[in-house]
Amino acid sequence: MALSDSGAMHEDPDEFRAAVDRATAWIIDYFKHPERYPVLSRVKPGDVSRSFSPSPPERGRPLEAILDDFERAIVPGITHWNHPSFFAYFAISGSMPGILGEYLSAALNVNGMLWRTSPALTELEQVSLGYLRDMLGLPKDMFGMILDTASTSSLIAIAAAREALQDLDIRVKGMAGRSDLPPLILYTSRESHSSVEKAAIVLGIGQENVRKIAVDDRFRMDAADLERCIERDIASGKRPFCVVATVGTTSTTSVDPVPAIVEICGRFSLWLHVDAAYAGMAAILPEMRHTLHGCGSADSLVVNPHKWLATPIDISAFYCRKPDILRNAFSLVPEYLRTPEDPAATNLMDYGFQLGRRFRALKLWMVIEYFGVRGLQSMIREHVRLARALESRIVESPLFELMAPVPFSTVCFRLNPSAQACVAATESEDSREAASQELNEALLNAVNATGEAYLSHTKLNGRFSLRCAIGNMRTASRHIDSLWHILNEQASVILKL
Ligand SMILES: *Cc1c(COP(=O)(O)O)cnc(C)c1O
Repeated sequence: MALSDSGAMHEDPDEFRAAVDRATAWIIDYFKHPERYPVLSRVKPGDVSRSFSPSPPERGRPLEAILDDFERAIVPGITHWNHPSFFAYFAISGSMPGILGEYLSAALNVNGMLWRTSPALTELEQVSLGYLRDMLGLPKDMFGMILDTASTSSLIAIAAAREALQDLDIRVKGMAGRSDLPPLILYTSRESHSSVEKAAIVLGIGQENVRKIAVDDRFRMDAADLERCIERDIASGKRPFCVVATVGTTSTTSVDPVPAIVEICGRFSLWLHVDAAYAGMAAILPEMRHTLHGCGSADSLVVNPHKWLATPIDISAFYCRKPDILRNAFSLVPEYLRTPEDPAATNLMDYGFQLGRRFRALKLWMVIEYFGVRGLQSMIREHVRLARALESRIVESPLFELMAPVPFSTVCFRLNPSAQACVAATESEDSREAASQELNEALLNAVNATGEAYLSHTKLNGRFSLRCAIGNMRTASRHIDSLWHILNEQASVILKL
């Protein structure tokens, strides 16, 4: 019981053991039969909240009863990212060693703000990010730090890029009301992630100072357009300061021409940050090392172990070649945080804006130790193989068409307009596109309503496309076979074949 008769807070180790055993049994069964649940939760907005009491309990309840509630009221409201037929957004995996790492990390409950507030947290973070850096083939001088998400990593990178403009002294003087401060310009492609623009909003750069560089027919940043934009901005008295290139864009997983961008950034002294949140991990395969070609010369780079490295969310690996600039941007040490180890030890609070930090390195280290480099490589290799197999089926099928190249494990496709009598018969391009969108949306909803697979969508050059992202460690050929079957079945219904 959580409350003794005296009303004092109380916990019972035997009860905890029983609850942990039950939870562990539930987890093992869950991974044995993930397909028992619909991938996409079927609850409607408000359903989950309505199944809870409007007020908290006056007296504590047994863990047993709380676990009953978990199964009864929470599991139905879960969209199962662990389902092997989760193909939406970027699929991820909660692996057993990763779960164990989360469990022990919660038990230790340490806060790694300073080296001395848990030396093992700070040092394991450096060790595990060193392993990952070597696996990715990045240079040894890249300083690594764990953050929650790629959004935070890119925000820190862009803040460092701003700090690198030493003559402007923005850390001290700020940006508002300064007649000596030209607009600072950030460059990224039209296909880059929304987190880049959001970082510009947070940092006071302003949306109108984010240049969305054109992409080529394969959705890669046009380096010549980048260069023209930079020159135009300089000529009009603006101050270019940062380029964010993407390795694996969110819609199509296209890869920007990083070596050419490195050269341009060098010439104009701009900070280059590479957002490789998903696709960067492919570089752990010897045959896909080229994925990060040129990225070793970037100033900073982010890759997410919680995306394609079987590590439970959240964990983002941020690498920076100029940790001194991070410190210049963020270090601010009040008296109560001074320690005798300064400056021999790394205090991670000096490299970003957050003070407290969870022990995320534990799960990453356990994942790398348990699967080994070979195991992790085999997962990524298999996902790429499955995506290529799906790509071939789409290319060969009269019903579907491929919408973008497939460099990794994400496939963009849609119903082939020529298979759609009602679409082909329509006059204008716009109305054909609208009709095609309607049919593809209907197909997407029909597939997702089966509960047997979950796809998401995107728009490519204004054209509505379905998107299948393969990234769960338990996804096998049979799941792709089944997806293909469902797609064809639902397409026949929608096209009334
Ligand atoms: C997923 C993704 C992000 C966002 O990642 P978070 O960790 O959720 O912030 C950013 N950029 C790219 C290219 C991504 O694939």
